[in-house]
Amino acid sequence: MQISSVDWSWRPVGVGRHAFDVASKSLAPDSAVVSFCGIEVEAWQVQRRPPELEWIAEDTCMKCWRLIAARFD
Ligand SMILES: [Zn+2]
Repeated sequence: MQISSVDWSWRPVGVGRHAFDVASKSLAPDSAVVSFCGIEVEAWQVQRRPPELEWIAEDTCMKCWRLIAARFD
């Protein structure tokens, strides 16, 4: 299946890189948002541009990864 549009954003949030709905980007910064796998963070953590080191240092959440991959089975 071809990916036509991406409606998620990966972000390192201190406990790994997780996937969040792009709608998180338009919420108030202190709103609670939940990753695809169920991790709750504040929206600013998804809205900011993370330092490069955080992308490198944090592991990709495989539960989020599998949930996205399953869409394209
Ligand atoms: Zn996750």
